[in-house]
Amino acid sequence: MNILVINCGSSSLKFQLIDAVTEELIAKGLCERIGIEGSNLVYQPTGKEKVETQTPMEDHTQAIRLVLNALTDEKTGVVKSLSEIGAVGHRVVHGGEKFASSTVITDEVIQGITDCNDLAPLHNPANLIGIAACKELMPDTPMVGVFDTAFHQTMPKEAYLYGLPYEYYDKYKVRRYGFHGTSHSYVSKRAAEVLGQKYEDLKLIVCHLGNGASVSAVKNGKCIDTSMGLTPLEGLIMGTRSGDIDPAIIEFIAHKEGKSIDEVMALLNKKSGVLGLSGDLSSDFRDLQKAYENGDEAGIRTMETFAYRVVKYIGAYAAAMNGVDAICFTAGLGENSPFIRDMICNRLGYLGVTLEEEQNAKRGEDLIITTPQSTTKVLMIPTNEELAIARETFALVNQAG
Ligand code: ADP
Repeated sequence: MNILVINCGSSSLKFQLIDAVTEELIAKGLCERIGIEGSNLVYQPTGKEKVETQTPMEDHTQAIRLVLNALTDEKTGVVKSLSEIGAVGHRVVHGGEKFASSTVITDEVIQGITDCNDLAPLHNPANLIGIAACKELMPDTPMVGVFDTAFHQTMPKEAYLYGLPYEYYDKYKVRRYGFHGTSHSYVSKRAAEVLGQKYEDLKLIVCHLGNGASVSAVKNGKCIDTSMGLTPLEGLIMGTRSGDIDPAIIEFIAHKEGKSIDEVMALLNKKSGVLGLSGDLSSDFRDLQKAYENGDEAGIRTMETFAYRVVKYIGAYAAAMNGVDAICFTAGLGENSPFIRDMICNRLGYLGVTLEEEQNAKRGEDLIITTPQSTTKVLMIPTNEELAIARETFALVNQAG
């Protein structure tokens, strides 16, 4: 069965068509600037030439229509008709406490996702628009929602509650949710396979280090803690997001700079992180790494502060699990930067971590990058959220059918 995986943002839409049985990628692509002048579709059928089309897309329905046309096009298409698409898997950012696992999308589920809009005002509405558009264009094709928050729903209360008046949890569900769950789930399961051990027997720490970054503690096959919180702003220092700060800083900056709360929040989301810390040098770790290697002070302070925060979370999660068997690196930076893995692992001597330099220099495949003597293993596992979504979708649709 072919599964269409849709990841809908406010003005963009990423898609992949995956054969769920062979797990082969059939085609993938991206619609950009939806609803904005200059929209375009990039469509890449596997093994064939990339097709780029500059074409107006007024809304997401039009974008998905173009995607479906591309997939079924006589010349560049990969399927003869839409009936060859067995199901659609939608990435949904926030499932609140309602969705602890992926679910077949019904009207009730759509309402449930809508109820979580408050918790992810930038993301959930866009995800819902993608769902509505697919429903309109492929009314008989089953759809599944796969939630970024679901994997973290196993966290115990002590990990997800904040030190706030309990009534805010009762009234508004203010608590830690965590994000990147599909990635943390995929990578931790894959790590168990690579280690040749049972998932249920392992204590794992997953470091998803990309533009957005988070760490999770996965004990005996269940997430028990993660660094992102009510929103994806908490935790590690990210590309442009601050991660953990003293909440009093918000008021302090607002007073000093004459800014509103909204303005300070925008600053914490868009102008902070490694971008802000480096004095606007870059939010891209490749640039910062270069700056570090050239001895640039801004590059050095930024990379060291970033790495220190990761090391601190690893220590916290090793404590939370009363030990750790393996640490996994994934996502843009985690997968592609031997430099950052080295910088972090160098500070994990107390866990008996010793990197194997030759292994650490490789990329693109699942790897154990520590020596056989290393008491805690370190792995590099390329994440594949789309494949994970396709798997979940296939499993649920098969079950229902
Ligand atoms: P997101 O999905 O959150 O947008 P990604 O997982 O794609 O982010 O990661 C993007 C980040 O990965 C960027 O900051 C980029 O600099 C970093 N990155 C990608 N390739 C490399 C590399 N070879 N070396 C260092 N950093 C890299």
